[in-house]
Amino acid sequence: MSAYLTDAHCHISDLAKISDKIAGLCSSACFPEEWEALSKADSRKLKKTYGFFPALKIGAQPGDITEWESLMPDFARLFNDADAIGETGIDERFSKNFPVEIQADIFSKHLSLADDFKLPVIIHCVGAWGLLLDIIRKWTGKGEKKFLIHAAKCSAELCSEFVKLGGFFSFGARELNLRRVLVAMPSIPKNRILSESDSAEASEQLAMVESAVGRIAETIGISADEAAALTSDNFNELFCG
Ligand SMILES: [Zn+2]
Repeated sequence: MSAYLTDAHCHISDLAKISDKIAGLCSSACFPEEWEALSKADSRKLKKTYGFFPALKIGAQPGDITEWESLMPDFARLFNDADAIGETGIDERFSKNFPVEIQADIFSKHLSLADDFKLPVIIHCVGAWGLLLDIIRKWTGKGEKKFLIHAAKCSAELCSEFVKLGGFFSFGARELNLRRVLVAMPSIPKNRILSESDSAEASEQLAMVESAVGRIAETIGISADEAAALTSDNFNELFCG
């Protein structure tokens, strides 16, 4: 497979172990404990994105969300050196401890920060797709804005709506084995498809990105080399375009 592979969404901060075959990666720091390590990381391959998404943290407590307001000054400062904002979004699985309305409110604040700093947004969503779409519609207004639905598992109808609003979509091999995703793929233009690992381990990143690109190639009917070039062009368009 082509040496030109990109990982649109991961959580890797140890850059020393990144394979030479990975030409670009976007690493996401979602909790205050992760922000500093990422802000210190430096590589021409690396795109940095910062979010506040306590529901995704193992062992997260409901109280973690109340610190949000007090963290805002530190959080906003990170974006002078950021390539994107997120991951952010809504995950219904955690609604017992993190009510959907509070998650939606924090998501909306990320979107206005994205406007302030003119950055794309990395979005995570499980359930609550209708609410997510409403919020993004309000945010984009009549135009398009750049955002990435990562680990995209939305329906064909939703994909079409997100495409109209400017959405990009990243996939790992795990999503591309789901029937719903395979049905939705024809609704996504080729220039909006990216590959991802969603991994925190540099040691497994290359294999995961290779299998994602391989599955993208099979799903849309192009060669693996073409899929590597396509997803890398789209990576550059999202983060550098
Ligand atoms: Zn992630």
